[in-house]
Parts: sequence; C-alpha cells; structure tokens
Amino acid sequence: MKVRVNSDLCQGHSRCCSLAPELFEVDDYGLSSALNDGEVPAGMEQKAQLCIDSCPEFAIEMVDGK
Ligand code: SF4
Repeated sequence: MKVRVNSDLCQGHSRCCSLAPELFEVDDYGLSSALNDGEVPAGMEQKAQLCIDSCPEFAIEMVDGK
C-alpha cells in the first residue's frame, strides 16, 4: 500500500501528521507529505486508511489501489 498527499489540496491542518507521524511529515509551510516515498509499512494500513478518511481536504490518496 502506498499513499500520496495531493499538495494542491492539502491545507496544512496537520491532522494526518498528528494521527500518524510515522507516515506523514509537515514542511516549513505547514503542508504535509508522505514519508518513505509513500510506502506504508506492514501493519500500518489501518492507520493510513484512518488518515485518508480523516483528511478534511480529501488530499490523501492511495496510490496503488490496494
Ligand atoms: S490532514 Fe489533509 S489537509 Fe491536513 S495536513 Fe494532512 S493531507 Fe494536508
């Protein structure tokens, strides 16, 4: 499973980073990006899905469709 943050949609609420600092980081402008090239480590899939569902801007997407 891979995730990606659409930087055009991200408004920098940092909700994803609060929920899963293992998966997302915030840059100096407050915008999020996926760590580790978006690769979700085994066992973190549910947390990644929670972040996808919790992003108020619908900015996080699954890349490989799994
Ligand atoms: S929760 Fe969504 S809008 Fe907020 S920082 Fe994360 S990706 Fe961006």
